[in-house]
Amino acid sequence: MAEPTQTEPLQAEKRPAAACAAPADVASALRAGTVTTADLPREPVGTRAYRLTELAPEALDAAIHTDRALDPLTFLPDMDDLGGGMFDRVLDAAEAYDPDAVTAADVRRVLAADTVGPEDFGVLLAPAAAPFLEQMAERAQRERVRWFGTNVQFFTPLYLANYCENRCVYCGFNCESGIRRAQLDESEIIAELDAIAATGQEEILLLTGEDPVRSSVDYIARACELAAERFRTVGVEIYPANVADYARLRAAGVDYVTVFQETYDPARYGKLHLRGRKRIMPYRFEAQERALRGGMRGVAFAPLLGLADFRRDALACGLHAWEIQRAYPAAEISFSCPRMRPAAGAVTPGGPHVSEAQLLQVVCAYRIFMPFAGLTVSSRESARFRDHVATITATKVSAGVSTGVGEHTHQADEGDDQFEIADTRDLPTMCVAMREMGLEPVMNDHVLV
Ligand code: SF4
Repeated sequence: MAEPTQTEPLQAEKRPAAACAAPADVASALRAGTVTTADLPREPVGTRAYRLTELAPEALDAAIHTDRALDPLTFLPDMDDLGGGMFDRVLDAAEAYDPDAVTAADVRRVLAADTVGPEDFGVLLAPAAAPFLEQMAERAQRERVRWFGTNVQFFTPLYLANYCENRCVYCGFNCESGIRRAQLDESEIIAELDAIAATGQEEILLLTGEDPVRSSVDYIARACELAAERFRTVGVEIYPANVADYARLRAAGVDYVTVFQETYDPARYGKLHLRGRKRIMPYRFEAQERALRGGMRGVAFAPLLGLADFRRDALACGLHAWEIQRAYPAAEISFSCPRMRPAAGAVTPGGPHVSEAQLLQVVCAYRIFMPFAGLTVSSRESARFRDHVATITATKVSAGVSTGVGEHTHQADEGDDQFEIADTRDLPTMCVAMREMGLEPVMNDHVLV
């Protein structure tokens, strides 16, 4: 079946057939690929997205579990949509961005200014800025010291499960890959948390694959309660949820929410995310805002660089974070900066390779544009590169990383890793490395009184 065209107006002649059909017929048609959710009754949300007005449970299940049955721009009936136009504004700006039109004179002008506004952020991401990388790094380093001093904050991820309903073609956890699946039960979660806490870590990031049935909000909330008893700061990287679910997780002790948008290019997004709720791009886009409405202290943003045009994706990600900061001034904003890495069970998406120099340009541009934002560099990167970026602009690094399920305590049913790690250093080794570079390792960013 051809990729759904997201910007086509509704086909009035198609809709009545699906709208009037019995739920079982709609489910069969979705499974057979003869209709998508774009053919069902829906209403516009802004200028790009839509919302299904209704969908029977059987049809919903069929749509979620069939390749390309979900229209990437159509919210499901049980999904919060926030409106407000942020999705349209960010995607419009990314589409209008022409990196090749930027000149060296533009770069000099922007680097000479005291602050960089959203209209000039793209200048720093353009090819014309590449020869100015040293000046960008110097400016980024000044901003980093001004806002964060020499502190580098540590955390470690804990994978609770690797079940996933989505089919992202570039990820080894996707629902079609034959990897070993696992999910920690409560005693295993406690054992893993205790093992990590014993290393001296005070911040933990809990991750699951994206399977809201197996890894329910109840399951995740309980894990968060257990984590909050042992760690000063708890983050989650889970499937996008509704505002009420985020409020529930906040009450369970979660401080911040990370959601990778992966790419902000809607055509590419639809080609890379074939199945599962993740296919619905605007619902993922609004996750950080829903998390903040649910009471979260902070939110993190990231494209997975290398899935699409990385300059456009970095631009969109920066503008997305900037819009959120403007709308929620108290929110703690941060960026993650992953590039594509090989993984078991995944296929390489064929996007352009992003070099280390290009990644450095992106992280320096983020720092100059939003100097007070946190910035994490993934353990997918080499120790040499992470150390270098920590001295210039990164404020947060992981240590003692395992991306498999149950690997911290080597429990029986370990699941496969999500991706290959390049920097495998443990916490003491990382602390020594940071101190040798004149940086101060910190385990948490607040004091409870
Ligand atoms: S990237 Fe995330 S949502 Fe996609 S298949 Fe992997 S774990 Fe699932």
